Amino acid sequence: MPPFEGYRKDEISFMNEKIKMQVPLVEMDGDEMTRIIWQLIKDELLLPYIELNTEYYDLGLRHRDETDDQITVEAAMAAKKYGVAVKCATITPNAQRVGEYGLKQMWKSPNGTIRAILDGTVFRAPILVDSIKPSVRTWKKPITIARHAYGDIYRNVEYRAEGPGTAELVFRGQDGKERRETVFEFKGPGVIMGMHNIDASIVSFARACFNYALDVKQDLWFATKDTISKIYDHTFKDIFQEVYDNEYREKFTEAGLEYFYTLIDDAVARIIRSEGGMVWACKNYDGDVMSDMVATAFGSLAMMTSVLVSPEGIYEYEAAHGTVTRHYYRHLKGEETSTNSMATLFAWTGALRKRGELDGNTALTDFADTLEAASIKTIEEGVMTKDLSQLSELSEKKIVNTADFLKEVRVRLDSMLSGK
Ligand code: NAP
Ligand code: MG
Repeated sequence: MPPFEGYRKDEISFMNEKIKMQVPLVEMDGDEMTRIIWQLIKDELLLPYIELNTEYYDLGLRHRDETDDQITVEAAMAAKKYGVAVKCATITPNAQRVGEYGLKQMWKSPNGTIRAILDGTVFRAPILVDSIKPSVRTWKKPITIARHAYGDIYRNVEYRAEGPGTAELVFRGQDGKERRETVFEFKGPGVIMGMHNIDASIVSFARACFNYALDVKQDLWFATKDTISKIYDHTFKDIFQEVYDNEYREKFTEAGLEYFYTLIDDAVARIIRSEGGMVWACKNYDGDVMSDMVATAFGSLAMMTSVLVSPEGIYEYEAAHGTVTRHYYRHLKGEETSTNSMATLFAWTGALRKRGELDGNTALTDFADTLEAASIKTIEEGVMTKDLSQLSELSEKKIVNTADFLKEVRVRLDSMLSGK
């Protein structure tokens, strides 16, 4: 039955009224295949239902080049101002891209620039679909990886010791006092590395993790190797405990949630045996490795969502994957693509829901929930992009192209909205 059959015209126009947004959402457009998906999502699934109030920033590589990358800074400042942003995947230029786009220079990673301005922590969680079983049989709920995005080996100093000699670690205080420790007496060639982190960044990381866990109502786990690294890793452990005791213990108790610290190897073993459903905070390197492990075990990078949360509570939503260049080149050649839009769609729903929560706009939060449900229903009913068809356990599957998948979602969205 058509959704509006049996209603008077004035009733229909009332039902057709689009959802309003009081405060703008910061929209950061991007590159290649995800830029195409971006527009399709807006045209097919957002603009017909919402009076989309966004402040638009074009972070496409050409526009970043034209503005000497100022647009990225402006977009991050806008996120600071309004509190919620949604970002499309963007190209991080390398030498090949400089040639391909004739760039003035090899601009920095937009995500790096935004992260430096917002000082955030990145949370990555999979989108679960019943018919796609995780490789780990016990996992029933999503596992969110919270990765510290500052320091450690990502800001290291390292070189080779070419022959015998003494490696020392020296700290010179502003007062001129020196502390000096021998790292190793080399008898032959080898390698040396120095790295650091800062208390302020660890405190921000801890707060972001506690806030996020409260927000999604999940336990927080944190793990390092503090038995071996008795000062470096132990500092992480101590800071988390201190922040928890001083600022979050009561809130966690009230919410019936737990904060739990253990050694990283123990955490790995427990995570594999668990049902999932926790936020797992990791140091920078551990988070890099574990997020790929978790994403792959849950199925596909195309189903991983990502959100940057700043210590002041600014949220920037995006997909965990990149611009899907290989598919884009095929698209440019006029070939059909079957690129999965789920993670990009969930970036939009995540941002719209958060905007709705902050503004007390339940129409908007409800719409975000329904759109997510409609997209999951589409896959459950056997309609999916090629990447998922290899993972889904359904016996009847219909593989659709990039645009048709979103049209299929719209059919289900319409019937769910009119069924309310
Ligand atoms: P990618 O875009 O994530 O794609 C890697 C491969 O994974 C694709 O070729 C595809 O495999 C599969 N894949 C990823 N997302 C998919 C989706 N939504 N649907 C179906 N398959 C998907 O990574 P990349 O090729 O290494 O990087 C491409 C560009 O993205 C680079 O310029 C990089 O700088 C940028 N990047 C941006 C971000 C970001 O903005 N957050 C993150 C990572 C990378 P098949 O080809 O086998 O189908
Ligand atoms: Mg990685």
